[in-house]
Amino acid sequence: MQSLMMDLPLQLKSVLWRAENLYGHKEIITRRGDQFESCTFRDFGRRVRRLSNALAEIGIRHGDRVGTLAWNTQEHLEAYFAVPCMGAVLHTINSRLSPEQIGYIITHADDTVLLVSPDQVPVLIELRDHLNGVKAVVQLSGEAPEWSLPIPLYSYEDLIADASEEYEYPDLDENTAAGMCYTSGTTGAPKGVVYSHRSTVLHALMLCLHGTIGVDEAERYLLVTPMSHVNSWGMPYACLLQGATVVLPGEHPIGSDYLDIIEQTRATVFVGAVTVGMIMRRELEDNPTAFDISSLHTMWLGGQAPPVSEMRWWKKQFGVSIAQAWGMTEASPVLTFSSLTTANRDRDEEERFQVLARQGLPLPLVEIKLVDDHGNEQPWDGNSPGEIYVRSPWVISEYYDDIRSRDSFAGGWFRTGDIGTITSDGYVEVVDRAKDLIKSGGEWISSVALENALIGHPGIQEASVVAAPDPKWIERPVAFVVQRHHVTTDELRTYLKERFPSFWVPERFEFVSSLPKTSVGKFDKKLLRSQFV
Ligand code: ADP
Repeated sequence: MQSLMMDLPLQLKSVLWRAENLYGHKEIITRRGDQFESCTFRDFGRRVRRLSNALAEIGIRHGDRVGTLAWNTQEHLEAYFAVPCMGAVLHTINSRLSPEQIGYIITHADDTVLLVSPDQVPVLIELRDHLNGVKAVVQLSGEAPEWSLPIPLYSYEDLIADASEEYEYPDLDENTAAGMCYTSGTTGAPKGVVYSHRSTVLHALMLCLHGTIGVDEAERYLLVTPMSHVNSWGMPYACLLQGATVVLPGEHPIGSDYLDIIEQTRATVFVGAVTVGMIMRRELEDNPTAFDISSLHTMWLGGQAPPVSEMRWWKKQFGVSIAQAWGMTEASPVLTFSSLTTANRDRDEEERFQVLARQGLPLPLVEIKLVDDHGNEQPWDGNSPGEIYVRSPWVISEYYDDIRSRDSFAGGWFRTGDIGTITSDGYVEVVDRAKDLIKSGGEWISSVALENALIGHPGIQEASVVAAPDPKWIERPVAFVVQRHHVTTDELRTYLKERFPSFWVPERFEFVSSLPKTSVGKFDKKLLRSQFV
């Protein structure tokens, strides 16, 4: 028997409708140099429809890919709605990838129009051989310069100036592609992920639930996670759905800018990479009274595990709580969120930190299991590691036109490539990425656990641990550390011996002035391995 319920598709136009009609007065604030510009959701909606009309005018049709190479700005956010609501596909490209990777991605996704920040125009000139399918380029801010390529280059404001504010968005099948994003390629060429309207709406709804970041109309969210990578963790859609104020850091922000933005806009929640949180901490340690960040109460840090030492520091110094989620490009990205169940809420603060240091509970509609090297499911005892397999309506079923899909799925489950454990009450802990786990004399050593302990040492600012080949043990950990003040190898070894089995403790420490970061701001272990080991 079939139900008799309305078969109303889940679509992004419903998010826009709600933002305009319920929260028309709420704002999107963008940093423009040392100024801030704000736009109400009502005006934003009008500009979104003008952009859809302008894109239709330059030839964008249902299913066409519109690439963006852009910072977190209002114009970029306009594309987040204008493109998918008209039935085209928003392909956000991470501008921090190498030019070869960007060229590969533009060609592979078959982008027909590119919306770019001014600093990306020279990059496109360099990539001219990859732009055969591109019909037009739009510069998102400022006057477009003269350029040498045989493709029209428009300024965004000129393009939408005369476009109509009316656009009757079609009803789309909810499985229509809404967005595309490529993995950052830390393990080979980037792989394409295609999000649907359905997956994007469900993921946004999930971010509004209690027990997750719980997007709330009363809050002001500073979205530092790049809009060019996994839809800024889905936060722009969730904020507009809930009527929350959106604060965007604009072009070329640096560490002190984020603190200044919090002070100027009274942002209450910060969303960004763990490494950005660490940069802000350093700024505040150097200039403790330079910024008034009293509005801030929560930081959602992700991309890698936030160390407990960071949680303690932010809580003690500024009363700021750190939340974390675990996920990946292929999962839109969020799969688990760290929150305290009632059984954990009454514990003392230090124990609560230890619970929150785990990656958290699987979200509603996320199924999860652990599988060992022999394909056997592992128990949820907090102690038996296995590769984490997941299923969810916002997890991919295959990569876009990529033969590597074969290796990433098993019996309808997505293999995340992360090794973890799960406690009996459902808390997931990511031990390591399978490729970063160190196998020494047949035993596993977690690079993540060593790094987080080292970052907790008062003399250490940053740390990254990778495997080095070893004739006797096959692999041994090597720690790369950036010092806050002078420490010796012996001190660090003694400190780690108090916390880990002695075979975990690296023999070799490399003291460096900074650690390389990936395009999404994580410590770049691939580069460390190739450069130093
Ligand atoms: P890529 O494009 O390189 O896949 P993603 O941004 O998708 O990059 O990163 C996904 C990976 O980042 C996960 O598989 C996991 O290893 C790591 N990761 C993300 N969030 C966390 C977290 N909170 N704790 C630990 N590891 C995390």
